[in-house]
Amino acid sequence: MRCRNSGEHARKTIVRCEPDVKISSVADCLFCQIASGLIPAAKVMESNRALAFRDINPQAPTHVLVITREHYPDLAAVARAGDGLLDELAGLAHQVAEAEGIDEPGYRVVFNTGPQAGQTVGHVHAHVLGGRALGWPPG
Ligand code: AMP
Ligand code: ZN
Repeated sequence: MRCRNSGEHARKTIVRCEPDVKISSVADCLFCQIASGLIPAAKVMESNRALAFRDINPQAPTHVLVITREHYPDLAAVARAGDGLLDELAGLAHQVAEAEGIDEPGYRVVFNTGPQAGQTVGHVHAHVLGGRALGWPPG
């Protein structure tokens, strides 16, 4: 679904929009600011439409976030967008796991989606976690 405000988005201004609609950049979004280089991050890897960097508060020896360069609020919005973007996010998450040496014996990819799941940053991100035994079920 295209947002009615796409002209505004092109100028990278803050706009009001349906929550599931992709817009290119949101001025007060932390991860948009990391994607644009305004806020520094420890970059691990990147692809055309995605970027991986280390979580500032790691919960495991390896804890990397994989985000879209453009602003999507959550996994649901990326899934609706189609266009192979979710494949690209998952592919980059796996490449990170390989590069970090956690693909064996295993790693976890988590998309916290919505407040009950603990999503605190409203820009889609996959947590790539590994380097220790990870408990199940999660808290
Ligand atoms: P979530 O709670 O699933 O929305 O995950 C947000 C994650 O972003 C948390 O694990 C935070 O530690 C992480 N985070 C917040 N600010 C930064 C930052 N400036 N650089 C890297 N990671 C961050
Ligand atoms: Zn954003």
